[in-house]
Amino acid sequence: MTMSAEALAADYLATGTVAGTPSGHFIDGREQDSLSGEKMDIFDPGLGRPFAAVAAGDRADAELAVASSVKAFPAWRRLAPAERGRILNRMAALIRENADQLAMLETLDVGKTLAESRGNAHSAARTFEYYAGVCDKLQGDSLPVGFGQIGLTLLEPVGVVAQIIPWNFPMTTFARGIAPALAAGCCVVAKPAETTPHTAILLARLLSDAGLPPGVCNVVLGEGASVGATLSAHPDVAHVTFTGSTKTGVRVMQAAAEHFASVTMELGGKSPVIALADCDIEAAAQGAAGAIFENAGQICSAGSRLVVDRAIHRKLVDRVVEIAGEITVGHGLRGNKMGAINSRRQLDTILGFTDRARRDGRAVLCGGKQLQDADGGEGWFVGPTVIDDLSDDDPCIQEEIFGPVLSVQVVDGPEEALRAANATRYGLMAGIYTANISSALAIARDLESGSVTINDYWGGGVEVPFGGVGHSGFGREKGLVAVQAYCRVKSVVAQVPTTLSQETRNN
Ligand code: ADP
Repeated sequence: MTMSAEALAADYLATGTVAGTPSGHFIDGREQDSLSGEKMDIFDPGLGRPFAAVAAGDRADAELAVASSVKAFPAWRRLAPAERGRILNRMAALIRENADQLAMLETLDVGKTLAESRGNAHSAARTFEYYAGVCDKLQGDSLPVGFGQIGLTLLEPVGVVAQIIPWNFPMTTFARGIAPALAAGCCVVAKPAETTPHTAILLARLLSDAGLPPGVCNVVLGEGASVGATLSAHPDVAHVTFTGSTKTGVRVMQAAAEHFASVTMELGGKSPVIALADCDIEAAAQGAAGAIFENAGQICSAGSRLVVDRAIHRKLVDRVVEIAGEITVGHGLRGNKMGAINSRRQLDTILGFTDRARRDGRAVLCGGKQLQDADGGEGWFVGPTVIDDLSDDDPCIQEEIFGPVLSVQVVDGPEEALRAANATRYGLMAGIYTANISSALAIARDLESGSVTINDYWGGGVEVPFGGVGHSGFGREKGLVAVQAYCRVKSVVAQVPTTLSQETRNN
């Protein structure tokens, strides 16, 4: 890598293409076209037009990738754990070295800003580094079975695992699923979302450069209904880690159930940011804005609801609207603070919610409309949106919008805040803003949510387990606990020969 992201960006904006863009599946240690020869266009959401084409795989490519991983598994699981750790550490270094190219392609695929993509590349590197250190620390127990026996547990890799990846955070989702799986000694077949394939191919290439043997991490590109469905239903896949919509998650679980594969389900969310009357209003306003406007709100754990005490409601919401007004929206490579919506389909979904809110007479304080790029491009943009004072049963409170839309619920006191926060079927994340740590902890304990942050919505990193309750799914990614999904416990009990006399044994 010689060109900086800025130089790559300038080159792309002038020519409409990126030199050296990868385009094939990564199977058995090399990039390859689909068996059918089919290709699919990849759109730049910031321009609303294709900038590249990649292999469009189907069932046959997915089966080839699984067979390759099955073949690679026996040697990979036997490799010394410390050597697995060295490979993952080299991967972290290679991601950092190639962060500019990765960030550039992530921005073109997803629509996010270059700054966000760069942050994601570094977070992916950190994730590989974290799990590199875990490889040689996975250990079982000794079991208290009595003097005549010795009992122990062995942690074994589950086998070949599928990773089905969404379009909003392709790099970080790849890293948080694949690094712990490799650390545990599993082989992986990854399927990026159809609109965002490029960084997965590059990451597979970097893993190979880091010394990962062929077949240990394969990447198959293509539609969810063919490649994703084949992987979830494949009898040789022992575990499926799925990140995506609740609706598709149900399908994946049904397919996995047919062959007793275990699953991790990281699904949708409708996460609340709770602002109590005694909070630091500026910190809460910045936190709430960051919780929903980052990545243009296309985050399963976005803080998409603001549950605010009536005593500070006006002041806090006015300040969030002011912050929203300062956010420039446009192509992710042009230095804007907010990038594009990933697809025309997603843009229409978001506008469907905001149009309906307007028709129903809701107070749409800002945004809620398609925006033109200031540079005259035809990309897919929605401005930061705030909809005030909604009732618990409003669709904007109950349904995941997956865009930069903050829906406000006004409450009286902490009890009502807790009730309002828990009033959806989702439970992924929640933020609490208050000066009183006891109130925060009491609410944290009673929230129906996989994670809670206090006075910093995006607090924590790869060390902190992440996952949902209710319709947000189950299983945990990140942290040490994530490795459990990729390990199975084998109990071994041995009868100990009584070769020693009772007297010797007692001494
Ligand atoms: P969205 O509707 O926003 O595209 P999805 O949950 O459908 O979100 O997509 C998340 C991931 O799941 C993508 O990689 C997609 O290709 C994949 N996918 C979609 N449908 C299926 C399916 N039936 N089986 C397995 N994976 C699927």
